[in-house]
Amino acid sequence: MDTIKGIKGVKDILPEETPRWRLIENAARRWALCYGYQEIRIPIFELTALFARSIGSTTDIVEKEMYTFPDRDGTSLTLRPEGTAGTVRAFIEHNRAADPLPQKYFYIGPMFRHERPQAGRLRQFHQFGVESFGTADPRADIEVIALLWRLLSDLALPDLTLEINSLGSSGDRAAYKPLLRSFLAQQESLLCANCRRRMDTNPLRVLDCKVPDCRAATELAPRLTDHLSPEARAHFDQVLAGLAAIGVPYRLNPRLVRGLDYYCLTSFEITSTHLGAQNAVGAGGRYDGLVETLGGPSVPAVGFAVGLERMSLMLPETSSSSLQDCLYYVAAFGEEGIKRGLVLLDELRRVGLSAHCDYRATTLKAHLRQADRSKCCYAILLGDDEAARGSIILRNLASKAQEELPLAGLTALLKNRPFPS
Ligand code: ATP
Ligand code: MG
Repeated sequence: MDTIKGIKGVKDILPEETPRWRLIENAARRWALCYGYQEIRIPIFELTALFARSIGSTTDIVEKEMYTFPDRDGTSLTLRPEGTAGTVRAFIEHNRAADPLPQKYFYIGPMFRHERPQAGRLRQFHQFGVESFGTADPRADIEVIALLWRLLSDLALPDLTLEINSLGSSGDRAAYKPLLRSFLAQQESLLCANCRRRMDTNPLRVLDCKVPDCRAATELAPRLTDHLSPEARAHFDQVLAGLAAIGVPYRLNPRLVRGLDYYCLTSFEITSTHLGAQNAVGAGGRYDGLVETLGGPSVPAVGFAVGLERMSLMLPETSSSSLQDCLYYVAAFGEEGIKRGLVLLDELRRVGLSAHCDYRATTLKAHLRQADRSKCCYAILLGDDEAARGSIILRNLASKAQEELPLAGLTALLKNRPFPS
């Protein structure tokens, strides 16, 4: 009979990999809480209209990447492709703007996009993201960028570059789009089919195209940053000065426009040369109009999302190897030894010491073989002889050094001992 396989682009994260995932998730939570962001858990699926309205109907996500399906009553539902839309919906639905602002949220969880699977690009992937509501001040932009930069640096992810741009106000973009369109019209024959189509509907996205010919053709395109209103210019300058003041290095990238329609003013992305073609680790920006677009009050907001798969690909091997739990292997054998061993295992675990035993082993030799195969640091040998003496033999599995210790009070003794490194 055929075995049933997992879905293309949807991966299992096996026990060998979960320590690095925990390391990343714990660091993300720790940094978010340290910056005053609180966790929100939003649903995995929402009404399709939420994403269509917030992300924008001419974006890659909405045009071709969403997992959309009719509910049994015909209502169109979508597996969340990102976390901002759901967070903003929850913010509005629970009338959070009536509570004191600012409010700062973070989320971690799976997202779904129908993409061509490759290294660092999956159909089910995971994001950590933050959203800061209620602050128009550029220091909120600096704060979210700093949080992302400190997190990635703390994890020692290699060769990071922060790229930053300003998308101006909606008025700035409205004035700039005709300039860009007429430039693109002159280059039309050089553009890819996708860009020729987007030229009219979403011309800014053409600047973001990864196709080398399109990049070359738009090299000399007019720059939005040369057409910023004084307010937008001042905002951008303050963000850049703030980043410089706290020592977060950045590179100006006038082509950086991001794929989502709701961004304004600050837009940023962190890339690494370690990731190959999928070189973005995380990205974000300001989205002052989104809460209102989704039917809420006018509340400025800024945030980012970072991909955990790409962080995991970049995480140095050494970071997670030290995370392996150090276990005691309880080698209990013989009638009395097995009885005492059962109780000892329970006691060790109750005081928080990881303990393990292969219940199939009945001899000391079999136990030691299993102990050596396991990731344990010590074996506790407990046969009938030891049980009769009221003691155990503690064996260091690396050095093979052994010592006899009394069984009474053993867990307290071990609990207070430093583990071997
Ligand atoms: P890309 O240009 O790589 O498609 P994006 O602009 O679509 O990225 P965002 O929507 O800004 O990405 O998501 C932020 C981060 O989430 C990305 O930088 C990346 O790390 C991660 N990410 C996005 N899509 C995927 C995916 N299909 N598989 C794995 N990670 C992803
Ligand atoms: Mg994408």
